[in-house]
Amino acid sequence: MPYNGHVIPDTPLAVDFWYVKRCPHIRLFFLTHMHSDHTMGLTSTWSHRPIYSSRITADLLKLKLEVEDQWIHPLELGEPYLLPMDETGEQKLTVTLIDANHCPGAVMFLFEGYFGSILYTGDFRYSPSMLREPCLMTNAKIDILYLDNTHCDTRRTLPPRQEATQQIKEIIRSHPDHNIVIGLYSLGKECLLEELAVEFKTWVEVSNARMKTLKVLKVLDVFTTERGAGRIRALDRPTISSRKLFEWNEEQPTLAILPTGRSIHSNNPNIYIVPYSDHSSYEELEDFVSALKPSSLKLIVEGCLPEFWSALLPHRECRKIVMPDSVRRYMLRKPGKELTSSTYQHQQPCLFWRKLRRLSAPKGVIFETLVQESTNDEACKAESVEGFPQGSLPLLNNTRQDTFFKLDFKLFFAICCKNTLENVYRPLAPLSVLLINLRLKCILTQKQKVIRLYSLHKHE
Ligand SMILES: [Zn+2]
Repeated sequence: MPYNGHVIPDTPLAVDFWYVKRCPHIRLFFLTHMHSDHTMGLTSTWSHRPIYSSRITADLLKLKLEVEDQWIHPLELGEPYLLPMDETGEQKLTVTLIDANHCPGAVMFLFEGYFGSILYTGDFRYSPSMLREPCLMTNAKIDILYLDNTHCDTRRTLPPRQEATQQIKEIIRSHPDHNIVIGLYSLGKECLLEELAVEFKTWVEVSNARMKTLKVLKVLDVFTTERGAGRIRALDRPTISSRKLFEWNEEQPTLAILPTGRSIHSNNPNIYIVPYSDHSSYEELEDFVSALKPSSLKLIVEGCLPEFWSALLPHRECRKIVMPDSVRRYMLRKPGKELTSSTYQHQQPCLFWRKLRRLSAPKGVIFETLVQESTNDEACKAESVEGFPQGSLPLLNNTRQDTFFKLDFKLFFAICCKNTLENVYRPLAPLSVLLINLRLKCILTQKQKVIRLYSLHKHE
């Protein structure tokens, strides 16, 4: 299976690319969605590099690939986030997620920084509403467009998904005595299944593995793992074959439907291939590119563009990217010491302090709005970006970090005193242990109080 990820040249960014040995200088990793051709190389052993994705993709990443929570940073759609691209935070990246209309959690990334603006579509099904996204409306010029060209073929016509859904309904309606098997990948087309369940008033039978995914997606209550409970069954596509269909038909008349935009054929009269696609059609791609008019265009999937597409692109000179020295240094730094956006404003503490801080500091990126934390006014001003409302920017909760840091220092000092007294002044050991234990208890209580206060504040 080919992998559809890319390292963005002259930046510390990679999208859907997980072979870190081939890109040791990359510091920020982005995941568009959870289809396997976009996660190749990503495993549960992933570490020391932050992964940014939508919230749904983050949940699926934990469920399916068991990547550790601490490396996953979920971002909300439509909000511009600032991420540091060097050690001091002098060079920042603004990233905004746009719904890709592909499968649950799938997003496009709009990156803005010293390199100009780059739109990375990932897999997407074009819809005119995408062009009305505030970030694309305010950003008049896209320097580089990374385009999902899966179906960029003039010979392939793909109807809108509503039309393909009607075709599927017609097939089912015209076979009232048949059971229906629908071949799908492990993620995607859940809306189609929901619509069929409602239309034909039946449960949709799924495997235990698919049910776990569906629970994360919070879909309609139309799915079951009970064998024979419904007329429609969703199966992994590779499990559907002529031999299997023959076996199923021995028990009960059964037909298979394969909703796909790919050009596949079957001679079996019980297999129906319907052009239901989660990728853009050729015409849609043409509309998208001619509306965006990017300065340059790169293909995500291996292939080549129709020659006449050059007419769609404006004849602008391509922006020459000059990488700032601070970013270059950041990329040469050994991984594992990168700053997350929750800490990059601080100076790097030594390893010991980082370990102590890790005990109390929450994992992941902390993003808070003005509404939640009015004390963040100053941070908000520092983080404001021209063109974006300040309240919508992700902010850092420095106050809480500092409080924890001070308490950690007290804790460390008390532990040192306790160890010294125990080892050096053995005769005084019982008294010192009693006193120090009291002090430790006091500090820990203080710390728990801060945590409790914070969580109360969050829930208000
Ligand atoms: Zn996909």
